[in-house]
Amino acid sequence: MLYYFNGEIMPAEACFLSPEDRGFLFADGLYEVARAYDGLWFRMDNHLKRLSHGAVFMRFARTEFPEFAGVADSLLKVNGLTGQNAILYLEVTRGSAPRTHGFPPPTTPLTCMAWVKPFASKQHHARDGVPIITTPDIRWARCDVKTIGLTANVLAHQQAIDVGAVEAVFVRDGFVTEGSHTNVMAVMDGMVVTHPASHLILEGITRTAVLELCAQSGIPTRMSPMTLPEFQQSQEAFLTGTTGEITPITSINGVPVASGTPGPVTRRLQNIFRLLTCGR
Ligand code: PMP
Repeated sequence: MLYYFNGEIMPAEACFLSPEDRGFLFADGLYEVARAYDGLWFRMDNHLKRLSHGAVFMRFARTEFPEFAGVADSLLKVNGLTGQNAILYLEVTRGSAPRTHGFPPPTTPLTCMAWVKPFASKQHHARDGVPIITTPDIRWARCDVKTIGLTANVLAHQQAIDVGAVEAVFVRDGFVTEGSHTNVMAVMDGMVVTHPASHLILEGITRTAVLELCAQSGIPTRMSPMTLPEFQQSQEAFLTGTTGEITPITSINGVPVASGTPGPVTRRLQNIFRLLTCGR
């Protein structure tokens, strides 16, 4: 596979990351994960807008990264993935400089890296649904910024894996926020309920798309935090995210959600989401 590294396309062995890179030392960086369906990037503009939002918050020396759209296409091409289903990972850090907490001089080049890989969602997760667990949300208070500092997310997700679950969903002050790498939605009284976009969650590109699809399809939505008991007693629940798209939740902490099988609203949204991604 060929990678994009600081303006050039090259093999992994040629990408030399400084041991003083601030991403490595301080997790002083941002990332994005985007998806190509049949070689077309899904809502790349939204991903790059979210990257800019983070870069402004981080006070990076540069806050717009339009080049990544072209880079993503080039990476598909040079890796023989034109027209294929693929995933893009991109990362921008504050660059390399002698270690001190304060910013390096603004002329310090940001480190920019990206790769693509062939990708397909796990069909059995989408079809059968997945068990999830909940865990206290010990993350910082700016979860709207997609930083590479993912310690709490990594620990939470491993906690899920350790008990045979597929995702860990965070609960902060009694309210469900989001998953370790997904947003969370539930169906309550026929309404799709999810946490409002705030500093406590990442505003997922998939979340936004699903809410748009609800509006277009006459499915009522409510943006409000739900308590853990409300979540557990919901009629249906599902995860949204770039990698898993819409994944039904069958149980929460070992307790089935309703009948323990994917519900009709979830199925309907999966079907119309498929049209959005594959019908282009
Ligand atoms: N929340 C978190 C914490 C995430 O890491 C992700 C994955 N990027 C999401 C939500 C879902 O976002 P998206 O739909 O943009 O993949």
